[in-house]
Amino acid sequence: MSTFPDITITGIETRDIRFPTTLEKIGSDAVNVGDYSAAYAIVKTSDPNLTGYGMTFTDGKGQNLICEAIKILGERIQGRSFESLFSNFGATWRHLISDKQFRWLGPERGLTHMALGALVNALFDLWARYLKKPVWQMIADFSPEEIVRLIDFRYITDALTPAEAIEILENAKHGKKQRLQDVLENNAVPAYTTSAGWLGYSDEKAERLLHQTIEEGYTYFKFKVGSNLDDDKRRLALARKVLGYDKGNTLMVDANQAWSVPEAIEWMKALKEYRPWFIEEPTSPDDILGHKAVRDALKDTGIKVATGEMCQNRMVFKQMFQCGAIDYAQIDACRVGGLNEVLAILLMAKKFNVQVVPHSGGVGLPEYTQHLSTINYLLISGEKSILEYVDHLHEHIKYPSIVKKGYYQTPKDPGYSVEFYEKSIEEFVFPNGTWWQSEAGKKLYTETQDNDVNEPILKDIKF
Ligand SMILES: [Mg+2]
Repeated sequence: MSTFPDITITGIETRDIRFPTTLEKIGSDAVNVGDYSAAYAIVKTSDPNLTGYGMTFTDGKGQNLICEAIKILGERIQGRSFESLFSNFGATWRHLISDKQFRWLGPERGLTHMALGALVNALFDLWARYLKKPVWQMIADFSPEEIVRLIDFRYITDALTPAEAIEILENAKHGKKQRLQDVLENNAVPAYTTSAGWLGYSDEKAERLLHQTIEEGYTYFKFKVGSNLDDDKRRLALARKVLGYDKGNTLMVDANQAWSVPEAIEWMKALKEYRPWFIEEPTSPDDILGHKAVRDALKDTGIKVATGEMCQNRMVFKQMFQCGAIDYAQIDACRVGGLNEVLAILLMAKKFNVQVVPHSGGVGLPEYTQHLSTINYLLISGEKSILEYVDHLHEHIKYPSIVKKGYYQTPKDPGYSVEFYEKSIEEFVFPNGTWWQSEAGKKLYTETQDNDVNEPILKDIKF
């Protein structure tokens, strides 16, 4: 990390890219009905051959606000040199969140923080491209001290100090050689699938996709629940009919924040006969003590509690860990402030003995999280942990994540893997892309303007 090239940041551009996934009910759950979308950050440099790409996942509407926030944050690093950005990236990260006016819109949460995630990840992409390494490998080649220097420890030193973080990284050197072998042989990150489990799918489609994903080598399957208990029982019975109880298949369920705490407990007790491994997002992501109450109440059922895809920052995760609220931490690569903050959360999870199962249900997310799970296994936790894979929209991404025989194939291309093809951007950029200007695009836009969470999940929209 000691020498940096004479390269400066010359401009930050954004693109509001939206894919019309509501058409096929992809991603449908008890609460969210989205068009899988990416608030895309492009960091240009004085080297015409070196550009960084990052993104934040959203469900579509309002994404333009994040694009505006990315530009405002980008002004803070305009003209900065590689050395001034990356020689102490933790300090750069602190600088980015510290505008005396802009921080009022957060601080460190909501859409300004999601914008930070896109920008910071674009900077990691830029740095790794310069070094000609995938991001996981760039981090793996840093010393523990260099990794710790990426992190802003403000607000978490009561749970994890920099010295403790270095100790965790030092201890994890034990067995690293063997784990690196797993990484290089594409045997480090087992995948799970939600393909069959979307709430808007018919029973026939769910059953077909279960058989298909079993054949593809998956052994972990997730189903959405939380809209209607009778429907949940029917769908989980169907899932268990295909998966069995003793064939080595694991079933998880995800309520996407549908319930209040007592409802979550009652609902999950009613589903315990289907033996879900964990319930994901039983209630509000801000309700730390609520998650603890659910976890305590479900102890006897054997059902674990997971959350994290909408936990907004390292402080919320810290409290979840400190009070024993969750069994699994589902970090999102870009809802929190990019890789710097993710590393802080991974290290805290290790200290508090909480397993990390990153959130990947969205466009571009598997591309990011394959790096995170690899970093966690190789450098921090030392244990394999499953990672969600959704088989949608990878054709728009230049270096897509790939799963074979139930394992992520370790990314080998330089960067953070979320660069979109230019032709895909031209088609799906909102609102002027060719698809959104087509009759189908205008119709979908009109029809999705009044989708309330409590309305019937999806209208039948056809081309
Ligand atoms: Mg989820």
